[in-house]
This record gives sequence, structure tokens and C-alpha cells, in this order.
Amino acid sequence: MSSLPDAVEALIEELTRLPGIGRKTAQRLAFHLLKYRADAPRRLAEVLESVARDVTFCPRCHNLAEGGELCKICANPRRSPSVICVVETPTDMLAIERTGAYTGGYHVLGGSINPLEGVGPEDLSVDALLARIDEEKVEELILANNATLDGDTTALYLARLVQPKGIRVTRLARGIPMGGDLEFADEHTISRALQARTEFDG
Ligand SMILES: [Zn+2]
Repeated sequence: MSSLPDAVEALIEELTRLPGIGRKTAQRLAFHLLKYRADAPRRLAEVLESVARDVTFCPRCHNLAEGGELCKICANPRRSPSVICVVETPTDMLAIERTGAYTGGYHVLGGSINPLEGVGPEDLSVDALLARIDEEKVEELILANNATLDGDTTALYLARLVQPKGIRVTRLARGIPMGGDLEFADEHTISRALQARTEFDG
């Protein structure tokens, strides 16, 4: 039996549903919010309310958007429509955006194919991607799926579907990170780095 009010218990319970948040952290977050009385919980409630009400998926690339409109990247006329970078999640897209080195568009798949967990292509936005390739003047598809077994499986699946359409299909190069010691890299990384080796021009 908890000695806390039911409303506080319910808040802790909801917080523990978030990834990486255990019961103790959830308690700490809840008590932190309550320390400032009604103000902090009310602000958080308002933000969550507006997220639940207004956030939608971009009808074109499946990135997060607002009110059923195009996302900020699709709506930006300076982004090149001829290149689409396929990512698993909006977080992956943000990682590429942080580099400031990419000016094309994106397509957010919503995950990767994982037969063991019952995730097939029909659970991802694959059909929407194929439709875009047919409808838009796409010249290159960059497969930026994660460098995991599932990511590789999904990239291979997409490449086989898209290559017959005659557009350029590329995969992000990967290998030993800058400043990374070979001894700390896993076998998958080392074998991919070997496969993606380039001519030595130093
Ligand atoms: Zn979009």
C-alpha cells in the first residue's frame, strides 16, 4: 500500500513507462515537479496536452509535424527534393541535421524490419516511400538505416525494391569512429569498415 496520494502514485506510474526511467527516478522527477506546487505540473500538462492534440505525422515523409501540415523540412523550399535520406526515427534525422552537411529531404520509416518481433515492411512507411519515388523526381536514395542487423536487413530490402526504378541507391559508409581505437570496436563495425575500405590516397 502506497503512502502517497493516488494522483502522485499515478504520475509516478506514468513516468516509469518512459524508456530508461525506473521507479526511483520516477519518484525523484515527480517530487521535483511537485516542489514548485501547481506551476510546474500545470506547464507540463499544457505542453503534453498540445503535443497530444497538435502533433501529427508529415503526410509526405512521416516526420513529426503539426496539425496535419507538411513538416518543417518538407515545407522548406531550400531543401533539395531530388535526394531522400531514409532514417528509422525522427531522432536519427536530428542526428544527421546536427551535422549541417545535408540539404536533401528525409523519409522516416518508423523502425526496422524485425521478423522475430513481428515487424514487417507493412508496419513501416515503405509504401509511402515507394509512392514518393514514383511521384517525385528523386535521383538518389540514401539508406541511413541503423548499422544493426535489423537496419542492414531493412536497407537491403529497400535497395532491392528501389534499384529497379533506376535511381541511385547509397548506404551511409560506416567504420571505426574518428579517434576510435580498433580494439574497442565490435566485430560488426570492423567487418563493415573492412568492406567499405577505400583507396589509400595519403
Ligand atoms: Zn516531411
